[in-house]
Amino acid sequence: MTATVIDGKAFAAGVREDIATHVTRLKDDHGITPGLAVILVGADPASEVYVAAKHKQTVEVGMASFEHKLPGDTSEADLFAVIDQLNADPTVHGILCQFPVPDHLNERAVVARIDPAKDVDGLSVVNAGLLASGETGLVSCTPLGCLMLLRDQLGNMSGKEAVVIGRSNLFGKPMGQLLLQENCTVTIAHSRTADLPEVCRRADILVAAVGRAEMVKADWIKPGATVIDVGITRIPHPEKPGKSKLLGDVDYAEAMTVANAVTPVPGGVGPMTIACLLANTLTACCRANGLAEPEGLTA
Ligand code: NAP
Repeated sequence: MTATVIDGKAFAAGVREDIATHVTRLKDDHGITPGLAVILVGADPASEVYVAAKHKQTVEVGMASFEHKLPGDTSEADLFAVIDQLNADPTVHGILCQFPVPDHLNERAVVARIDPAKDVDGLSVVNAGLLASGETGLVSCTPLGCLMLLRDQLGNMSGKEAVVIGRSNLFGKPMGQLLLQENCTVTIAHSRTADLPEVCRRADILVAAVGRAEMVKADWIKPGATVIDVGITRIPHPEKPGKSKLLGDVDYAEAMTVANAVTPVPGGVGPMTIACLLANTLTACCRANGLAEPEGLTA
């Protein structure tokens, strides 16, 4: 058996096209331009790359992009003043602070300061609570992206056994909640789970978000399962000195022999994250203006 490769890069490009169409309509019909503000504290090189990618894709779909680059020694009070100003700005519909922030700042406090209606990363306690209670909020971008890929691949997921490996607030917990909303029977596994391979073998839908390269082997996978690989581990490239290579949590070559469909790393889940950030910004903009939400871009 050779599994289908779930092409997240192509799917994300389609999502961005869809968003761009909605943005054009918002501008033409209502004179509204959705706006995303990104705050970067300090000069972490990886964060600068992510922020640049977010800016580029925000502009490409026709949204307004507001970048706030603050020095690494910015105090909590000064950062909060910037967030407060963005919370009050009606041209800003989404706000995110790029993590990690320098050690003297508290990430939970930073997220809590952002208006939940503009928390397009979906990381606040308010949005986590809304998701857990089945109410409307903004959903963390990577799980939302995985949900979109799964819906596209499987359609109705009702009654399926889903196993999520990883229980972080950023990914594992919201992913579990989303699969529950799809009427899956959900297991969230973690480092203390007994006999993890046996638990995973139950899964019609297996989602791995751990950060341990190629941990999930062929004999962990139920034949015909759909496998979503969220993990990212960077290793030195075996053939290109000085370059690095990304590995997922799933042994891709092995999974391809057992599963029905698998996301590759890179090119699977990764591209969906920024696409869903833009989707959340569009959703937040529509809600702020009392307009109908775009279909297919929310949980
Ligand atoms: P995290 O906060 O470090 O959580 C990792 C989870 O994996 C924890 O729940 C941990 O269990 C569990 N775990 C660790 N070792 C394990 C083991 N041996 N067996 C079973 N479970 C184990 O990480 P995260 O933020 O959720 O991210 C997970 C991975 O996804 C990382 O590689 C990250 O880079 C990647 N990621 C990718 C994207 C993307 O855009 N593609 C977005 C987000 C995250 P305990 O809770 O028991 O410690």
